[in-house]
Amino acid sequence: MQLFIGFFTAVLIAYVAFRLRSLTGSGAIAAIAIGTIIFGIGGWQWAILLLTFFISSSALTRIYKNRNSGSEDFYAKGGQRDAGQVLGNGLVAAFFVLSQGTLFDGDLAWVCFATALAAVNADTWATELGGLSSSRPRLITNLAVSVEKGTSGGVSSVGTSAAFFGSALIGLEGALLSPSGLDWNLFLPITLAGFAASMFDSILGASVQAMFYCPVDKKQTEKHPKHSCGTTTKHIRGLKWLNNDWVNLLASASGLIIILPWLSFTNGF
Ligand SMILES: [Zn+2]
Repeated sequence: MQLFIGFFTAVLIAYVAFRLRSLTGSGAIAAIAIGTIIFGIGGWQWAILLLTFFISSSALTRIYKNRNSGSEDFYAKGGQRDAGQVLGNGLVAAFFVLSQGTLFDGDLAWVCFATALAAVNADTWATELGGLSSSRPRLITNLAVSVEKGTSGGVSSVGTSAAFFGSALIGLEGALLSPSGLDWNLFLPITLAGFAASMFDSILGASVQAMFYCPVDKKQTEKHPKHSCGTTTKHIRGLKWLNNDWVNLLASASGLIIILPWLSFTNGF
């Protein structure tokens, strides 16, 4: 029964998001799959965390779409999220819902799930709100280098603060909605692990993520094979296949490297 309600809710939300142009067709199908697992198998607490991420990131993209104009030239994809983006952000979280009772007990699966969502929420808030920064971002791997707004691996104080609050909001929900009841001991670990994972996202973005160059506009871009102007873009650094979706997927799993040792040390998980 819960699985059926979960599927129905996921279809409804994906349909609305598709109509609002927050999701493409493929993005809506991927969102139904992820949503059915999280709503239908996890339940309402898990659903609230996913929806916090989904609604806040879609809303921020919508609100700041105009102010971030110019970045459309840069990003591989527009504000309408496709299947790759949905899976890059949601697959690790869905995996932990499925892992409860098999790989992990319920409490541990919950913490890992919340950490994965804290990471992607932090990254999305940083990307959207970082665009409001008045100064140019700097490359996380070399702060002496300033880069174009929107460049993967670029960080600013506005974006970094946004990442912290994006992670803290999921950390707060992770503590309040824990399946075994309110547990304040979860707030700080989830928040800091999610925040650290979003920094790791930037490090991957500055190092191994594929970056291309448009010789006509003389601009770096994530667009490939063609830039928005129609010119074929040249590969300048990173692994050619490793786009932002892969970076999000890796980063959303990376918070576990922090949270698992932390909790085994403090809470005896
Ligand atoms: Zn161009």
